[in-house]
Amino acid sequence: MGKKSEYASDYEHILKSDKNCFDAANKFCEGYKQFMDASKTERECVNTIIELAKKCGYKEFDKNAKSLNAGDKYYVNNRNKAAILITIGKESLDKGVNFIISHIDSPRLDLKPNPMYESDDIAYFKTHYYGGIRKYQWPTVPLSMHGRIFKADGSFVDINFGEKDSEPKFVITDLLPHLAEEQNKRTLREGIKGEELNIVIGSIPISTEDDEVKNAVKENVLKILYDTYGIKEKDFARAEIEFVPANKAADIGFDRSMVAAYGQDDKVCAYPALMAEMENRNPEKTSVAVFTDKEEIGSEGNTGMVSEYLFATMEDLADIVDIKVRDCYRNSICLSSDVNSAYDPTFADAFEKRNASYINRGVVLTKYTGHAGKSGSNDASAETMAKIIKLMDDQKVVWQIGELGKVDIGGGGTIAKYVSQRNIDTIDLGVPVLSMHSPYELTSKLDIYHTYLAYKAFLINKGEK
Ligand code: MN
Ligand code: MN
Repeated sequence: MGKKSEYASDYEHILKSDKNCFDAANKFCEGYKQFMDASKTERECVNTIIELAKKCGYKEFDKNAKSLNAGDKYYVNNRNKAAILITIGKESLDKGVNFIISHIDSPRLDLKPNPMYESDDIAYFKTHYYGGIRKYQWPTVPLSMHGRIFKADGSFVDINFGEKDSEPKFVITDLLPHLAEEQNKRTLREGIKGEELNIVIGSIPISTEDDEVKNAVKENVLKILYDTYGIKEKDFARAEIEFVPANKAADIGFDRSMVAAYGQDDKVCAYPALMAEMENRNPEKTSVAVFTDKEEIGSEGNTGMVSEYLFATMEDLADIVDIKVRDCYRNSICLSSDVNSAYDPTFADAFEKRNASYINRGVVLTKYTGHAGKSGSNDASAETMAKIIKLMDDQKVVWQIGELGKVDIGGGGTIAKYVSQRNIDTIDLGVPVLSMHSPYELTSKLDIYHTYLAYKAFLINKGEK
C-alpha cells in the first residue's frame, strides 16, 4: 500500500467510509424484501404504495382544493398502474419542486389476448414478453400468475396465484441436452424463441360422459378457472395477466450482504424513494415522488412518462396557488431514480472498468445513458451533477459514477429524457444491479441503504438561493 494521494481519488467499498452502516442497511432491507414479495407487478405495487401512504397521512389529491398548506401530503392514483406522492413545501411552487421518479413495471411474460390452447393433451398459455428479457432465462423457472380480468357483466377479479407455498406454480419447458444438437446451433438470442415461451397450465382431461369433447385438457382448465374466478375463455380479451417468477426475495451470500429478487429494476429504487418521501416532513421545497409504469417498453401509454399524467397533476397544483407551471419546472430538479448495470467480473469484457459502477460502492450517479454516441440520452449538465454531488457529500452519502457498459456495446435509456424535455434539470441516480432484467436480479444491501440516504439528502435540497 502506497501513501494516499493528495489529488487522486478512488471509488471504494461503502464500509471504508461508513464503517458501521451494515446493521442499518440490513434492517432497511427487511422492509424492502417484504415490499418486493407483495408488489410483483405495477398494479400490486401501486396498491402497496397507496396503502402505506394512507397510513402515513397522505390524502387523495383534489384538484379543486382551495389552497395548499405546507406539510400536507397527497397521493394520486393513475389507473391503478402509476402513483404520485406529494409533500407540500413551505416555499412557493414557482421556486421549483424536487422530483424523484422511479418505475414499478419490470420485464415479464404477458398473456396474449387469446392465450389458451391444447397440444397433445397438454394445456398451455401463449405469452408475449414485455420489456427486454433474455428469453433463454425464462424456461424451467417457477412462474406465478398476476393481474386483472373483467367479466362480461363489468365486474372484475384480481388474480395473484402461485406465490403461496400451498399454491401450484407454472413453468415453461426446455429441450433436454440429449436432444439439443439442433437447438445448440442457435444463437443465444434465439436459444428460446418468443413463440416458444409457452406456459404449461394443465394435463388432465375433463371427466365427462361425452367422449366427443374437444380439447378436454383445456376444457378442464377452463372449468377450474370458472369455478375459481367465474371467468370464461373470452374474458382473457379484457384482461391484463402477467406471469412473473414465483420466487421470493432472499438474502444472498454467507455474509447476507446482498438481496436477490425478481423486479429489482426498478423497485430497488422505488422502495428507497417511497421511504424517503414518506419521511419527508415540512420540507422547504415541495417533493413529488412518482412511481411510473411502462418504462420497460419505452415509457409509452397513459401510465408511462410520455403521458401528461404527471404534468397535468403539476398544472393542477400550480392552478390552486395561481402560479405558472413553467416557472415551477425551470426551477425544479428531478432524480430519474433508476438502476445501472453493476460491473460483473465474470463478464468483464462488457464493461469499461474505470467508468462502470460496482456493487457496494454506493448509489450510482449516471450522467448519461443512451447508445451509440449518447443517442437518446438526457446527458445531465455539469451544473446538475455538481448540485447533486454536493447534496450527497454534505450528508455523507457514498456515491459512485456509472456508465452503462462499454461504448458501442449496447445501451439503454430511462425516463430522464421525458422529464428534461419539460425544461427540468434531470439526472439518473440509483442502485447498481447484477443480472439486470433476469428472473432473479442481484443487489447489495449497502447500496440500497445509501440510495435511500441519497434520496433523503436530495429532499433537503433548498435550491440555489
Ligand atoms: Mn429501470
Ligand atoms: Mn430496465
